[in-house]
Amino acid sequence: MSDKIVKFIDVSMPTWPCNFRCHYCYVGQHLSDAERNTIMPFKYTPIEFAKLITKRRLGGTCVFNLCAYGETLLLPINIEYAKQILNAGHFVGIVSNMTITKNINELLKLPKEQLSRLFFKCSFHYLELKRRNLLDVFVDNVNNAWRSGASITVEITPSDELEPYIDEIKDFSMKHFGALPHITVARNELVHGYTRLTKHTDKEYIKIWSVFNSDLFNLKNATWGRKIKQFCYAGKWAYSFDLSNGKCYTCSHRKLVGDFGHGKHLPQQPVCYHCPAEHCFNSHAWLAWGTCPDIFKDITYANVRDRIRTDGTHWLHKRVYNAFSQKLCDNNRRYSKFIEWLYKYI
Ligand code: SF4
Ligand code: SF4
Repeated sequence: MSDKIVKFIDVSMPTWPCNFRCHYCYVGQHLSDAERNTIMPFKYTPIEFAKLITKRRLGGTCVFNLCAYGETLLLPINIEYAKQILNAGHFVGIVSNMTITKNINELLKLPKEQLSRLFFKCSFHYLELKRRNLLDVFVDNVNNAWRSGASITVEITPSDELEPYIDEIKDFSMKHFGALPHITVARNELVHGYTRLTKHTDKEYIKIWSVFNSDLFNLKNATWGRKIKQFCYAGKWAYSFDLSNGKCYTCSHRKLVGDFGHGKHLPQQPVCYHCPAEHCFNSHAWLAWGTCPDIFKDITYANVRDRIRTDGTHWLHKRVYNAFSQKLCDNNRRYSKFIEWLYKYI
């Protein structure tokens, strides 16, 4: 079966509650504890949303990434949107701390064909899992998801507090997930432009966390602090969609493109040469998917998500692996060099 992926759509779900309190949490950097119990209104119900995401309207098969602000899958409403996306024939990635077993199992009851398009980004909050005695729950849910036919990736948010546990985490991951976790880069969102959340120098930080040999970590570091000057098709091939206000933006840097639900097709306004960000801190998604066709040609989203276990099996099952190995720049028509050049001046 071949699935041609034409768009990557990152969906922010306006539910803040979370059963964890990780010390590096971005939500916690901005909100008080009381605010973190908030659920904002959704612009579209799951049924209304379903009408907006037909393959005809979106131009083909898409990969959606669903992330609630409190990244837990704590609320059943989050699951309803995932089901609608799968019903429409797209792929879904869900960001979760994999501890709300009841809701995860609700998804794992879906037909096998739908599970073959489902992917969990399993946030491995080691210290918080340990503190709450939930490591077993996490392991069971991650491995049950994979055994049920969904794909998984296990990702650590590095922090200075976690450093003494690096060897322990490596052993634990090899034992339970057959491979080392991927590593992201934690950011301090209270600093303009965002910096790495650490007391270490950049060089020290990279050295410490490189022991996990993670392509996710490598790509993020390759773009950290670096202004992207190449032509970027975010806003045309990839979007960040806010379910609370119905607006879609170019990417995590939220340059407005338009209303998600307006018109026959999604609004299109590629960012072109005018990247609004000081650095592309979510390059592992946008740039790996190929929104900037001239850079990172050899890396795909599969590279930053998959691992091969010691027994030869992959975290990404075949269908998701094939989908995530594609580049949007190969599946969409690019402007001519001349038109791209003209956009410099528009
Ligand atoms: S699980 Fe995610 S959302 Fe919840 S506290 Fe930890 S980092 Fe924050
Ligand atoms: S380079 Fe990254 S940050 Fe800049 S517009 Fe493209 S996706 Fe957004």
